[in-house]
Amino acid sequence: MKHPGEEILALYAGADLPLWRQWVTGWHVRRCERCRAEVREFRRTREGLAREAAGWMPTLDWERLAAEMEANIRVGLAAGQCIRGREPQRRSWPLVRVAAVAIPLVVLTLAGFWLQLHRLRTAAPSWGQDVLLEATGGGIELRQGDRVLILQHPEAERVTYSGSVQGSLRAHWVDAETGQVTIQNVYAP
Ligand SMILES: [Zn+2]
Repeated sequence: MKHPGEEILALYAGADLPLWRQWVTGWHVRRCERCRAEVREFRRTREGLAREAAGWMPTLDWERLAAEMEANIRVGLAAGQCIRGREPQRRSWPLVRVAAVAIPLVVLTLAGFWLQLHRLRTAAPSWGQDVLLEATGGGIELRQGDRVLILQHPEAERVTYSGSVQGSLRAHWVDAETGQVTIQNVYAP
């Protein structure tokens, strides 16, 4: 079964996909326990953020946020395609309706980066050892032998970690100043 990507599930959880996409994703999610669990987790995160944000949200510029969000979502959906330099349209984007949880969402998937790093290093003899993936106070650390890759998180942010048995580690946090949500996913090969 082909599962929708994480960014699609995140947008689906907030009813932020274009209508057709929302319907197609919903059709899959209703039949797939794994994706349903993922969507539940995104909804819990959004609700938590909305509660947390209630204190500082009134000072935000919603127009600017909505435009920024639209740009971020386009970047996510285009998955690497260049954004042609057109202005975001000022129509009522569905996200505006859920203003309480309207937070720019950036999904960083680092698997490609890691795979590339791995390919570069395969010639080194000490690279044959087990990979250790761990969450530390300062970020996510990926160790193999004497090599370490550290993804640092901004200081003084409350970071939520979750791990999976498949060997991936995920960190989410929200930037209190910009309201930007960052999700880092690291997969051990
Ligand atoms: Zn699925």
